[in-house]
Amino acid sequence: MKKICQICGKDESQTEVVPSIIVRPSVVSIIKPDHPDWDTNGFICREDLQKYRKEYLLKLISDEKGEVSNLELDVINKLSEYEAISENIEKEFKENLTFGEKLSDLIASFGGSWKFIISFGLIMLFWVSVNSYFLAAQAFDPYPFILLNLVLSCLAALQAPIIMMSQNRQEARDRNRAEQDYKINLKAELELRQLHQKVDHLLIQQWERMAEIQAIQLEMLDELKKSTAG
Ligand SMILES: [Zn+2]
Repeated sequence: MKKICQICGKDESQTEVVPSIIVRPSVVSIIKPDHPDWDTNGFICREDLQKYRKEYLLKLISDEKGEVSNLELDVINKLSEYEAISENIEKEFKENLTFGEKLSDLIASFGGSWKFIISFGLIMLFWVSVNSYFLAAQAFDPYPFILLNLVLSCLAALQAPIIMMSQNRQEARDRNRAEQDYKINLKAELELRQLHQKVDHLLIQQWERMAEIQAIQLEMLDELKKSTAG
């Protein structure tokens, strides 16, 4: 007998087919409405099986959450293609930064260090002492150091937006990481559920087969008894 896919009608010479019995009941419940004449003794090709598995996962998520976001769709696609989700987001993130963004990160990290505070304190001390003692007569910025004031306020005005820029990027990075975590968790959950169903399916199948074998053995015993009695 030729192994023909019940869904698309291709035979085993055209595509890889597997027995329908290995399809879990949860997936069969998705196939049934489309193909009412589904036969557990038939065959199904891997492509169609993959397609219905995907549909089943979509239904699972939309039943639970009401809607399927792009994030979840991505997980399902990766899941049905047996792909890993974890990617190096840190590296990708760094590669996508422009020169200005990298510079602002650098400035923000320098602005928030002791190095900056100490060197800035030294510069101020130098400025004040030069103008009050060494150049007392022809100081370029005499007491109360108006030019220093201007420099300081310019610095503060520039530093604030630079720090904010850097913070925004930090936030985007955190969000990326959180999304990634969510995707990995969701995939693990779905995968685990699939495994559970697979094991249950196998156990039930095995149990049925065992019961069948037992029934046959009982019949044989019966016949044996009859033949020895007769
Ligand atoms: Zn098919």
